[in-house]
Amino acid sequence: MEQPLLSWTEAGLYCEAGGFHIDPHRPVAKAVITHAHSDHARRGSQCYWCTETSVPLLRVRLGQNIQVEGVPYRKTIRFGSVEVSFHSAGHILGSAQIRLEHLGQVWVASGDYKREPDPSCEPFELVACDVFVSEATFGTPRFIWEKTSNHGQALESWWRKNKNAGFNSVIYGYSLGKTQRILAELMRFEVSPIWIHESMAALTACYRTAGRQLAPTRVLPRTGTPKIFLTGGELVLAPPSAKKQEWFLASNNFQTAFASGWMLGQQSGNSYRGGAGFDQGFVLSDHADWTDLNRTILETGASRVFLMQRNKGVLVRHLKTLGIEAHPVTALSPEIYSQLPQKNLELFSWPLPLAQKLSSKGTS
Ligand SMILES: [Zn+2]
Repeated sequence: MEQPLLSWTEAGLYCEAGGFHIDPHRPVAKAVITHAHSDHARRGSQCYWCTETSVPLLRVRLGQNIQVEGVPYRKTIRFGSVEVSFHSAGHILGSAQIRLEHLGQVWVASGDYKREPDPSCEPFELVACDVFVSEATFGTPRFIWEKTSNHGQALESWWRKNKNAGFNSVIYGYSLGKTQRILAELMRFEVSPIWIHESMAALTACYRTAGRQLAPTRVLPRTGTPKIFLTGGELVLAPPSAKKQEWFLASNNFQTAFASGWMLGQQSGNSYRGGAGFDQGFVLSDHADWTDLNRTILETGASRVFLMQRNKGVLVRHLKTLGIEAHPVTALSPEIYSQLPQKNLELFSWPLPLAQKLSSKGTS
């Protein structure tokens, strides 16, 4: 019976031939980590492998004493008979797709990825493979966003408009990735120091140490309200949970925004008004949208695709209509995988229109 190189287990993706897990859901012996977000890098494993730039982020998140090995992008390391390398995912600093090669087969597990340029991290690298295990966070046609948006300009104009009206501004977003992307986008403007929530300080320092150029920052005091907020015109970056904190409650002169791909469809154009409890929304995502998920899956040339599903399998069904063999990631559990049609991946060929599409694309 054909065994998958990566199988779906209770602890997540497991490579039996190499004896390691990818982004395990529970403590394991060997954890290969795509990136430092908490739904991918979890505490308690004996040893971690990640990209060199992820190491400081992982230590902030999981503890300074974890056993972790940093691997340069594209360098091949071996786990048993499996060759493993990390390739940029363009998602956050240090984020990687994991490439596995074994017995002539190449598998790639994407982690989270995006194709849009992001000044805070390494650009996405397209990796050709036989089997692609892809994220699918925004896997419905409802999530297609404008790729040419000037995010820095939009953020700066909103801040300036609020300032001129005597308001402070607070943008809510994730502490790792989104915050530093906003700071990198605002770097091009002559901005006064931006207040960041304390939960963002150590992570932001990792970005600067890695050489990323960010707008100047000050860390919000843990208690008390800085007097400067009384006059308005300040910008604060904070996680959504900070809404109940003293500095925010003590002042009613804040305009609020949320930066996320989830803002799409809740706004007109790229700005959101009303609902969801924010004055403004910025469609600023660190994931591929519907268009880029489809584009990436096609460009890898994979003959089999497994999706970390959301959206009730919309993308799986769509890929099937294109003649691509697609399954939810749960089909990698050995019992289900053994029921899939057996095939020699190397002999598989694309339906003609797709092959033509692929041959006309370069890598990016
Ligand atoms: Zn992530």
